[in-house]
Amino acid sequence: MKANVFKTTLFLLCSLSFGGLLKAQEVHYELRMEKPQNHYFQVKMEISGVKDREMEVKMPVWAPGSYLVREFAKNVNLVIAKDQDGKELPVRKTNKNTWKITKGSAKRVTVSYEVYAFELSVRTSFLDASHGFVSGTGVFMYLAGATEREGTLTIVPHTSFKKVTTALPLDEGKGAFNYRYRNYDQLVDCPMEIGNQEEFDFEASGVHHHVGIYGPGNYEVDRLKKDMARIVESETAVFGENPNKDYTFIIHNVVNGQGGLEHINSTTLSVNRWTYQGAAYKNFLSLVAHEYFHLWNVKRIRPIELGPFNYDEENYTDLLWVMEGFTSYYDELIPLRAGYYTEGEYLRKLNSTINYVEGSVGTRVQPVAHASFDAWIKAYRPNENSANTTMTYYSRGAMLAALLDAKIIAKTNGEKCLDHFMQKLYKDFYKKLDRGFTVIEFRTALKEFMGENMDQFIEDFVYGTKVPPFEEYFGPIGVDVKYTGKEEASFGARISERSGKAIVNRIRAGSTAEEMGLSVDDEVIGFAGYRVSAKEVEGILKSLNAGDEINLLIARDDILLELKGQMGLYERPSYHFEFKDGEASEKLRAYWLRAQ
Ligand SMILES: [Zn+2]
Repeated sequence: MKANVFKTTLFLLCSLSFGGLLKAQEVHYELRMEKPQNHYFQVKMEISGVKDREMEVKMPVWAPGSYLVREFAKNVNLVIAKDQDGKELPVRKTNKNTWKITKGSAKRVTVSYEVYAFELSVRTSFLDASHGFVSGTGVFMYLAGATEREGTLTIVPHTSFKKVTTALPLDEGKGAFNYRYRNYDQLVDCPMEIGNQEEFDFEASGVHHHVGIYGPGNYEVDRLKKDMARIVESETAVFGENPNKDYTFIIHNVVNGQGGLEHINSTTLSVNRWTYQGAAYKNFLSLVAHEYFHLWNVKRIRPIELGPFNYDEENYTDLLWVMEGFTSYYDELIPLRAGYYTEGEYLRKLNSTINYVEGSVGTRVQPVAHASFDAWIKAYRPNENSANTTMTYYSRGAMLAALLDAKIIAKTNGEKCLDHFMQKLYKDFYKKLDRGFTVIEFRTALKEFMGENMDQFIEDFVYGTKVPPFEEYFGPIGVDVKYTGKEEASFGARISERSGKAIVNRIRAGSTAEEMGLSVDDEVIGFAGYRVSAKEVEGILKSLNAGDEINLLIARDDILLELKGQMGLYERPSYHFEFKDGEASEKLRAYWLRAQ
């Protein structure tokens, strides 16, 4: 056995040293969907130029931008490898997402497999009789150690599907549905919508934008062209340049829309099909602003851990509060600058974000840098206790972006704002170095830009859970901040109806409910000797004053229990933001909330 181990080691060393020489070799993929109704894509991967006698192909475990190990290999079946003469080669799995092929002296190896695709979301893949959606990391395997290889992709749409919408460039002169990619990162960073979607185009900021919309909805193409162009122009103004020549939006109109996923020159948005009219339309524009902003912030301005990616495991970073938080700050600021919110509406939105952050118990437990690092196991795997222990890096990150913006505007007397810091990151790391930054480099860049030591800010609000002095930050830019939190009678449990029963869903840490011994999943049957429904008990608990007696009959695992206690007090932190008068602060406020 020792000899075998030695051989394997030698083989690994050889593969590493040959890695550089193999770069020029191409990998050709073919994607078919012979019976869309059974939800299987058929994939072929043609690999040549591997000198070693063995090779490995792998399926990623996650989709960049969505920080959860999704185990895409679970959907893969029937992996078969053949040489150039059609002779089958031995294939065996070596771990959950790796297939080892004993190729011997074969010059060309074709790996074929099928992928079950029946999860329609922006980060997973789907196929049925109405359309196909490919999120690359769940469909295309890669040759281990060779993600830098370029190559081609041929899509063979089902005969009932006439269109493919993707940002992947066509392989010039090869006809429709033949594409070329620079490296595996590009291939899987270009989602593909295959079907009979409505398509339209618009120009904005010198960039050609292509839109493919799947599914009916109450949208108007002319209005979308105009409004999406305005968002694009406002965002390009933040950075001073738009690095893309073309950009693709894939939009899924569905019942349960769940947001978007960013890519370097495209995005997939999933929205409720009736979102395009009335108040909901502004949320759609905010989603467009969010995902489009990411083409700079996270796809180009990025932590060093987020690209090139390790597709094999979690990619940890402390900086999602900047990547997602700053993007969330701008996804409301940009619609304001583009004229979709009034200043008053915008201030109420910012106020409500800050009240959500400061009013959450988890904010005092989980620093936002830790929320970022642990996104894989906490934000993306929430449970009934998450509200007590976590704070989202989206909202607290957006709040910190607002604080920094206010600080920069006040400090420079309205000459500069957070836009200029984003420009610095873009220039210093993406344009000059073409790479991501470490946490230390980010902190140094912030310090340089601010012209002062920002360690205390980072320690208190990013790695700490302190409450920022809001008035100190927002006062100088024309916003009056008042603390409005006060002690009130509060039970601290959420009880809702499930299959006709009143079930406890959530309990706030330190609440009256917790003190009394109530637990999540308990069924509340009676209050003070009377049978109650979920609605009734909720109403009774709301009407009680501090000190009032509470007597609950509950069932826990079918055992009846009586719980007794007294209504307690709780102070939920909250703030009221209001514009204030004063010449100097009005000038700075006008700069902060300027229209573009
Ligand atoms: Zn985002």
